[in-house]
Amino acid sequence: MSEVTAQRLADLFVAIAQTMEREKERLCELDGVIGDADHGIAMELGCSAAARAVEQPDIASSDPTTVFNTAAKSFLNAVGASSGPLYATAFMRAGAAVKGKTVLSDGDMADAFAAMAKGIQDRGKAEPGEKTMVDAWAPAAKAWAQEHAAGAPLAVCLSAATEAARAGAESTKAMVASKGRSARLGDRSLGHIDPGAASAVCIIETMAKVLGNGG
Ligand code: ADP
Ligand code: MG
Repeated sequence: MSEVTAQRLADLFVAIAQTMEREKERLCELDGVIGDADHGIAMELGCSAAARAVEQPDIASSDPTTVFNTAAKSFLNAVGASSGPLYATAFMRAGAAVKGKTVLSDGDMADAFAAMAKGIQDRGKAEPGEKTMVDAWAPAAKAWAQEHAAGAPLAVCLSAATEAARAGAESTKAMVASKGRSARLGDRSLGHIDPGAASAVCIIETMAKVLGNGG
């Protein structure tokens, strides 16, 4: 069983910020097709603000809840787009789910991930099939929970979640948007991947790389 400390969580936020920096342009291009072309900028700004805040020694040496809460606050302050409150809620919920723990077990990580996905759904009120980031987060959380319930270790849960998120993001191509900015396009949103679902894959993939190495 792996144990995720506050420091490893802080390292994860730093890695996610690096991923967003690399993916920024592609995410803006996706948002340019069905939104306002700022999604990569928003995610990079939010994730780098979160990373800078949680990297501070007093936070990185605190507890996982403090790391999640600090990331949430910084993300929200840095981002004016819809993704701001959605991810701030996700991180706050993850923090609440593991309150009082000094290190996170596989079970705690399963709880934190489920809480993130549910937080995004509660905050944005989107259901699967409405062409949003929920179409990546919800199947990823389901896959993680299934693997965890079957006794799989963290790395296996993470790779199942990644696969499910990728398939979920791909499936948004065939959806008509009914939530968020792209809902205004109606049928014209068909045939394009939702940018928020694409950035969700980036986050989940990075989690798998950083935390799935058995460390
Ligand atoms: P904005 O639309 O304000 O410019 P972003 O570009 O940062 O915000 O994010 C757009 C993404 O946010 C969309 O691709 C979609 O995945 C996600 N999104 C928008 N509204 C919702 C919602 N109500 N629930 C979940 N996700 C949403
Ligand atoms: Mg946008």
